Amino acid sequence: MTSAGPLRVAVLGSTGSIGRQCLDVAAHHPDRVRIVALAANSSGAMLAEQARAFDVRATAIGECEHAPIADDLPRGAACETGCEAVAALASADGVDVVVNALVGAAGLRASEAALRSGKRLALANKESLVVGGDLLMPLAGPGQLLPVDSEHSAIFQCLVGESDARVARLWLTASGGPFRGWKRDALASVTVAQALAHPRWTMGPKITIDSATLMNKGLETIEAHHLFGVGYDMISIVVHPQSTVHSLVEFADGSVKAHLGVADMRVPIQYALSYPDRWEAPVPPLDLRMLGDLGFEAPDLATFRCLALALEAGRSGGTMPAAMNAANEVAVAAFLAGRLGFTGIDAVVETVMNEHARCGVESFEQLEEVDAASRRRAEALVSAA
Ligand code: MG
Repeated sequence: MTSAGPLRVAVLGSTGSIGRQCLDVAAHHPDRVRIVALAANSSGAMLAEQARAFDVRATAIGECEHAPIADDLPRGAACETGCEAVAALASADGVDVVVNALVGAAGLRASEAALRSGKRLALANKESLVVGGDLLMPLAGPGQLLPVDSEHSAIFQCLVGESDARVARLWLTASGGPFRGWKRDALASVTVAQALAHPRWTMGPKITIDSATLMNKGLETIEAHHLFGVGYDMISIVVHPQSTVHSLVEFADGSVKAHLGVADMRVPIQYALSYPDRWEAPVPPLDLRMLGDLGFEAPDLATFRCLALALEAGRSGGTMPAAMNAANEVAVAAFLAGRLGFTGIDAVVETVMNEHARCGVESFEQLEEVDAASRRRAEALVSAA
């Protein structure tokens, strides 16, 4: 990585919520950050608009039928197509940092490419670690993999200057989502609009549904297990509706360090770029006098089955998290499309997990096969539901 001049950043998933907020951070720090590559899955027109705004020559789009019109791109720019082209940007020359904000297991290859080519990886795509953490973590050198997820950024920041051997427990905070306090029978009739109305965070549709089912917290527990190298017994989840404490670390002497801040993803995105430095806040800071009460409670695993299933998949390990994640991606897409009820999501995930013959993780190809087979099974379950 170069020390002189601005950081040269590739943003994969640039048209999604995290990607757009990343570009906003870049726009606030033109002397520190230069966007040199952009990739999106299907929003070609927005991709071209971003390329013009940041004068980016290297772009890629996952779905070729959505490629931007050449005339819309800046002079001298090209747009490659296909998911291999998206992943290729992660290892391109002239890139210092890869922000992986792709959605779902599709982000795994890009994470691998970034780490193998020695780039810093600012990881927002938690599915990369959920599915392929066993293979990805050994590729990451010290300080090479920085979390963008707010909880993991919080824990990462609490650990700066500490000895890993003195960590007693990681506390992951969960907002509880829009259905906090609801019981199982009431969840059956939840609508898409209700599930998309997250009380605290503005996010893309997939993660917003994962937050409503609490699957997101299960995925984040698996992510934390890999990122910080701690066992599942050392990770606890606490529901904290105000989303002001972004997560905490408990140490051997009983001390607990918490990370607090406004609930705005631009803060952890920026830290993944500025680390180990800190830059001027991208948003107005927290005013503690205006906070009022902060609440903490245990999660309801009997109501939010997705969380219990994800924790079970994490503890089982091997290929089970890949099967669980694939089933969830299919079920969430089906719920968003009106093809599956809200509690149908955990039913599909549970069946796919029960039928999956868990193996040890051997290769990315093996994980892609598990992913594909689990998607097919989940699709069949959705169609039969
Ligand atoms: Mg999070």
